[in-house]
Amino acid sequence: MNIAPSPNPSSDTDSSALADAWKYSLEAAGPAASSVLAGLAEGHAAELAAHFYKIMMNDARASRSMSHDQVRVRLQPAMQRWVRDLLRASTADVEQLIANQRVIGDVHARVGIPVDLVTRGTRVLKQRLFQLIGEHAGHSETAHAAIASLTASFDIALEGMTLAYSNARERSSRTDAAYRLFSLVQNVSTERERQRALLLDWENTLLYALAAQGDMGGFQTLARSEFGLWFNHKGIPSFGESSETRQISALINEVDQLLQHTLQQESDPAVRTARLQDVRSKVSQVRSLLGMLFERIGELDAGCDALTNLLNRRFLPTVLRREIELAEKSSGSFGVLLLDLDHFKAINDTHGHEAGDRALQHVAGILSQFTRGSDYVFRYGGEEFVVVLVAVEARQAMVIADGLCRRMAETPVVLADGQLLEISASIGVALYDGHPDYERVMARADAAMYQAKKQGRNRVVLGSDALPAAPGRNALRRD
Ligand code: GH3
Ligand code: MG
Ligand code: MG
Repeated sequence: MNIAPSPNPSSDTDSSALADAWKYSLEAAGPAASSVLAGLAEGHAAELAAHFYKIMMNDARASRSMSHDQVRVRLQPAMQRWVRDLLRASTADVEQLIANQRVIGDVHARVGIPVDLVTRGTRVLKQRLFQLIGEHAGHSETAHAAIASLTASFDIALEGMTLAYSNARERSSRTDAAYRLFSLVQNVSTERERQRALLLDWENTLLYALAAQGDMGGFQTLARSEFGLWFNHKGIPSFGESSETRQISALINEVDQLLQHTLQQESDPAVRTARLQDVRSKVSQVRSLLGMLFERIGELDAGCDALTNLLNRRFLPTVLRREIELAEKSSGSFGVLLLDLDHFKAINDTHGHEAGDRALQHVAGILSQFTRGSDYVFRYGGEEFVVVLVAVEARQAMVIADGLCRRMAETPVVLADGQLLEISASIGVALYDGHPDYERVMARADAAMYQAKKQGRNRVVLGSDALPAAPGRNALRRD
């Protein structure tokens, strides 16, 4: 029998370690086992894909993300290809196969397909394949070698997929966290004043309670006060754990201890006054630490584009993922406008880069002013912008896009020397169509924008799957 234990892939399971393990197991399988597997690939890939799909659709989580027609139309053939590729794998294909698994893992992460569903799917496929090997090769050595090779191929593929999946999830949760922080930063001055006022309120209420009757029975501890709750639930996660947040937590705790043990039980007025001084000095330390935290957060890269003050494109996936979730929950929709300024190079060439920058700020102003507060406006690239219109249907999205396009053409940029500069934009519009992968809606908006350019610029085109993909562009290029 030709089944040798495969070498252990290194603990960081990078692609080259996976590739080595895969090649090793393919070589160990031998030609007879490889030919059994190749035979199954020819004869049974379609049946296996159908079987996989049937099992998956029994799970509510899978049927939610696979219910869309496009997914259904694509999934089964893609699944057939995947099974066929794995069963026919040769050592020369391994690098490409691993790269493919990583792409699949990325897609799963974007769409939110849980890992346990994927492992269940491969388990079901393996079981069916074991049966088929039994039918074709009985209990021979070849059958054992085929089973060993098949198991290794599936497991390594899954490992590659999971690696990409968890990296992508980690990246997106970091941006999600940055976005949450950014949301807080947007209101940083309001929040700072609000929390200062709440802390002061609490202190005043304490003084009144002490002055009035000295009975602290119904008094709210600092930890349970509105400020304390905010700090614990929102402040710490927003600021991030640091020595300042830990000091504030400790001070809050000490203040509450003082109140409970000393002020409530101590009847000597002199001692009470001294303890009260302690409380006040600790509250004042909380105030100044809080000031430092707010100051630091204000200095962070706020997530806005420096020139236009629009949202930074790195938050686009976070926003789109959330909009897809909301649209799914409410059976609603949302729209994406991708806007590219026309002949912008010529503006720079004729009037200088500074005039170009001014035009970009002017456009950002129009986009912010003529969209709703609930919409999101991003600077997507140099002279490209993306607007996410929440809770709209195609007709409304087109009305808004037409309005923006007209306004841009009708409102010239006033240059530093008073000269007026006409500008226009080409806008591609795409509506969320139920596909769980946000890159799809972006790709349709992109293709529509490209059509608008081709049709003569200064216009709006609604995207559909019928449009050819925009050449040479990727919808969400990674930064
Ligand atoms: P088209 O109508 O086909 O879009 O023509 P275009 O000239 O706008 O073509 P393209 O989109 O390829 O060119 C974009 C130009 O925008 C290139 C660059 O000079 C300019 N640009 C990009 N970022 C900035 C920026 O931050 N400031 C300024 N002033 N110009 C920029
Ligand atoms: Mg451009
Ligand atoms: Mg342009």
